[in-house]
Amino acid sequence: MGEEMNDRIRDFLRCRRDEGPILVVDKSIVRENYLAFAKSLPDTRVFYAVKANPDPAILEMLTQLGSCFDCASIGEIEMVLAAGATADRISYGNTIKKERDIAKAFEKGIRLYAVDCEVEVEKIARAAPGSKVFCRILCDGKDAEWPLSRKFGCEAEIAPRVLEHAHRLGLKAYGVSFHVGSQQRNTEMWDGALASSAWIFREMAERGINLSMVNLGGGFATKYLKEIPAVESYSSAIFRALRKHFGNNIPETIIEPGRGMVGNAGIIEAEVVLISKKSDKQEDPRWVYLDIGKFHGLAETMDEAIRYPIRTRHDHAEKVPCVLAGPTCDSVDVMYEKEPYMLPFSLEIGDKVLIEGTGAYTTTYSSRDFNGMPGLRQIVI
Ligand SMILES: *Cc1c(COP(=O)(O)O)cnc(C)c1O
Repeated sequence: MGEEMNDRIRDFLRCRRDEGPILVVDKSIVRENYLAFAKSLPDTRVFYAVKANPDPAILEMLTQLGSCFDCASIGEIEMVLAAGATADRISYGNTIKKERDIAKAFEKGIRLYAVDCEVEVEKIARAAPGSKVFCRILCDGKDAEWPLSRKFGCEAEIAPRVLEHAHRLGLKAYGVSFHVGSQQRNTEMWDGALASSAWIFREMAERGINLSMVNLGGGFATKYLKEIPAVESYSSAIFRALRKHFGNNIPETIIEPGRGMVGNAGIIEAEVVLISKKSDKQEDPRWVYLDIGKFHGLAETMDEAIRYPIRTRHDHAEKVPCVLAGPTCDSVDVMYEKEPYMLPFSLEIGDKVLIEGTGAYTTTYSSRDFNGMPGLRQIVI
């Protein structure tokens, strides 16, 4: 996947006449990604994590392909309903919800909710009576390039108490969820979380409550600079872990890919605004400033976590270490500095650069009107 598949985007950009940074997403690559997940995990339902890229054209296509959706807010739920999906294909997967929003979701027909504590269970019991809930457990996000550790989930030891509380309040204690960390290139990371999940299933069975579902979360990687496992490597590692921990009683499973669904489907075209040196010292790196930065879509360069492949028209030329920065008047608007980025010496002001693998987590992270700059525009082709 990748190179030749992005030809449609490159052709589109060659004909482009307007100005400013833009993300172009090729829907046919999203379709390939969806079909790859569906094929390699045939018994698992796919819930696309809407926050990765909520463009209506993407949501409509995934709806037609049969995808379900992981939503974090009423806004996302409304976008998915507007794309034509029915409420039974939506999970309200955020563990942090206002009770008013739970009531609104319930009114729209949503019956599947994430929790990670007893207080949230009580909100759901009041605002969405009888619904299914799954308990998110903590994962340390080890080995992930964009870990989601600590904020969501409870220790596995207290999950049975949370789920039993749900059961007693008339909810359906439905299952367990976790997220091994985003851009997780280690396929073995599902093993430990599935061991905990199986323990919770057994613990609940002893209390006379049978859980049904394990939500395997996201984490499926997009190709940036380093190699990544194929979808089949993830699915076989997951299947092995399910067998190992659940034996012949493999539960219903769902996955929530975000990055892995849309990341490789998008390319951002940006422009070099300035190339300068801050001293006469030979060893000091050049500074290359683009018309896009941390605040207009490249937020995941925070702590230099995600390193995007960047192409220019000089890629055959000699490369030199550069600090890569954005255009705003905020000094944190620097993408790569601790580990400088190698860019062609012949790069010039006004050159276009292509930032690859930017279909996920770019438009949604883009601010509006900071320094009078518009949010990142997107075209889906
Ligand atoms: C963000 C998120 C995802 C998507 O994660 P990726 O690593 O992008 O696949 C899945 N599930 C939940 C609950 C999330 O918050």
